[in-house]
This record gives sequence, structure tokens and C-alpha cells, in this order.
Amino acid sequence: MRQLKNFKLADHTTLRVGGTALIVCEISSPSDIQDFVHEYGNDNFFVLGGGSNIVAPDHEIKTPIAYMQIINSSAKTDGEYVEITAGAGMNWDEFVADAVDQGLSGVETLSGIPGTIGASPIQNIGAYGSEVKNTIKSVQLVDGTTGKSRIITIEELNFKYRYSMLKDLTSRFIIENVTFRLKREKNSKITNYPQVADFLSINPGEPVPLKSLRNAIMEIRKSKAMILDEKDPNTFSVGSFFINPVLEKEKVPSGAPMYENESGKVKTSAAWLIEQSGFTKGFRHGGAMISQKHTLAITNSGNATAEDIVELSNLITSKVKQKFAIDLIIEPKILNI
Ligand SMILES: Cc1cc2nc3c(=O)[nH]c(=O)nc-3n(C[C@H](O)[C@H](O)[C@H](O)COP(=O)(O)OP(=O)(O)OC[C@H]3O[C@@H](n4cnc5c(N)ncnc54)[C@H](O)[C@@H]3O)c2cc1C
Repeated sequence: MRQLKNFKLADHTTLRVGGTALIVCEISSPSDIQDFVHEYGNDNFFVLGGGSNIVAPDHEIKTPIAYMQIINSSAKTDGEYVEITAGAGMNWDEFVADAVDQGLSGVETLSGIPGTIGASPIQNIGAYGSEVKNTIKSVQLVDGTTGKSRIITIEELNFKYRYSMLKDLTSRFIIENVTFRLKREKNSKITNYPQVADFLSINPGEPVPLKSLRNAIMEIRKSKAMILDEKDPNTFSVGSFFINPVLEKEKVPSGAPMYENESGKVKTSAAWLIEQSGFTKGFRHGGAMISQKHTLAITNSGNATAEDIVELSNLITSKVKQKFAIDLIIEPKILNI
């Protein structure tokens, strides 16, 4: 297990904020996980993937960090399905690109999402009409308090919209790998999302080649600054900062968009609520800014601190609460380490 020095969180997070961490261990193999747990294990460590869904504090960080770099994968065929077990440190979008190249369907609408394989089940990443839960078979993790390895099944993961039970336990478990079940299919039918169907000029649900769908998603995401780009500060974000509220139908404000939700409730638009509460794209607070291309993204316009980001988030949630009596839920983890 290699110790990494001069590890500034701002250099390893997409929001580009965060102080220097004093203890950072590079985790490149299952035995590195065991070494880490042996040395620092209890329930007070932090696991870092690609840093694309966290707000790291500005101060010096003493909490030990496991920096996930396990890069390995294996595959086995099961009829028309292929089961791929991928190491937690692998890049999510490279995994998606490979699946599309190999004619494996299931994750193509999740193209362009930053971060690692290991983080993908934690908040059940989702975009453009699909969620990763539809492809996950199991997750292998190590309990940081005991060093014991366990395989967690899909039932135990309790996946919901932007949630799995792992989200509540991220300072206790270290995910080692994730097993996905993808279908051999050259065309994708995950084209129900209206914006995607419009972009491709097809009827919703009409099959299209996997690659065409991936390309369409990448283009749509680029137009909203949802693909990381060194040159565009609108992409220095955690993606959407707020989750679209799922509410009883009668609680949705008049005029707000409503989408059917599998829970029987309806999902409304956090962006609509934020805009109706008086915020516009480009609104600034210190160095933090609402993306000029996407109301749900809080960005670092250049010199933001974590404090600026959190203050802007608080400003938005309190205005929305005042106006609509709705509690916006934030998507990233604000680290208290
Ligand atoms: C431009 C942009 C666009 C985005 N678009 C989307 C989108 O469309 N849909 C979506 O769902 N998300 C989106 N996101 C959010 C983010 O990319 C995902 O949540 C991603 O899965 C986070 O991965 P990560 O490796 O960067 O996790 P990190 O930010 O490093 O960590 C996130 C959480 O997971 C925990 N964690 C990470 N790896 C492990 C592990 N191996 N074991 C245990 N715990 C672990 C961390 O402790 C932390 O609590 C976007 C982010 C950005 C910056």
C-alpha cells in the first residue's frame, strides 16, 4: 500500500475545492484494502473515488483516505448476457465505452458520467431514462471495522432514485468491485427519454445502435456542461447538486413539471423550483456560481472555497423552502472530515 504525499483534495475533486489530506493510501489491490483496514480501520476513514460527488472541506484533513485505484476486470458469458466484474477504481465512462464497443447493452444512457465503478452503486447513478441498478448483479465490499469481505446482492442494496443503502454507510465500507449483467444487443431500446428521442429524431422507445445512443447522450450532456472539460468552468461541479423532489401529487406547486414515479408519487423539477425562487443561471455567491448552462449545477467559477459552495447551496434550499415549503435534498456528500 503506497502512501501519497502532498495530496490536495482540490486537485482530486471535480469541484476543485478541498484542503490537503495528511494520510492518503493508494488502494490498488484487495490486499491493499486489508492493509488499510488493518492500519486505519474503524468507522472513521474516507474512501475517495474520482471526487465527482463530494464537497471536500477547505481545511487540512487528518482523516485517513483510501484512494481507490483497483483496476481489473473479468467477464463470463451467461446465455445472451455477459457478467462483468469490474474493479472499484476503474473509470466509469471507459467501462461504458467498452461495453458499447463490445455490443453490450444496459449502461449506454449513463455515458459521460464522471467517477469510478466503485461509486456507481452508491447513489444509483442515473441519467436519460435509466439507472445503474438495472444492470448491477452484486457488489463486493470490505467492512472497515472487521476487514471481512462480503458480497451484497441487489435486494440488500435497496436501490431507489439516487439512493442505495450504501449511501448511508460510506465511511464504513470499502467497495472492492461491482458485478454487472449486460445484454448482448447491438441496438438499445432505452430511448424513451423525450430529449433523447428528439435528438435522434426517432419515436420514444424505438431501437437505435448502441453507439448512436452513446454519441447522442454525449452531445446532449456537452450542451449542458455535464461532460468534464478542463477549459470550461461550468463543468467544475458535481453534476446536479440537488435531487428532483418526489412528492405527493397535491404538494407539487401549480405550474411545476410533473413526472410519473414508480413509488406512486410524482417527481417534480428542482431546477423549476430554484428558478421560481429567484435564482438564474450564472448567479454568484463568492466564487461559487450556478452553472451558466444548467440550473441544478453549482460550479467553481475559479476561486471558490468549499464554504462558498455550501453557502450557495444553503441559500438556494432556504429560498425554495420559504417559497414552496419543499425541502430540496442535496445530491453530493458534504464531507465533515
Ligand atoms: C459533470 C458531472 C456530471 C455528473 N452527472 C451525473 C449524472 O448524470 N448522474 C449521476 O447519477 N451522477 C452524476 N454525477 C455525479 C457523480 O459523477 C457520480 O455520483 C459518480 O458515481 C461519483 O463517482 P466518484 O468515483 O467520483 O465518487 P466520489 O465523489 O469519489 O465519492 C462519492 C461517494 O462515494 C464513496 N465512494 C467512492 N468510491 C467508493 C468505494 N470504492 N467504496 C466505498 N465508498 C466509495 C465516497 O466515500 C463518497 O461518499 C456527475 C458529476 C459531474 C462532475
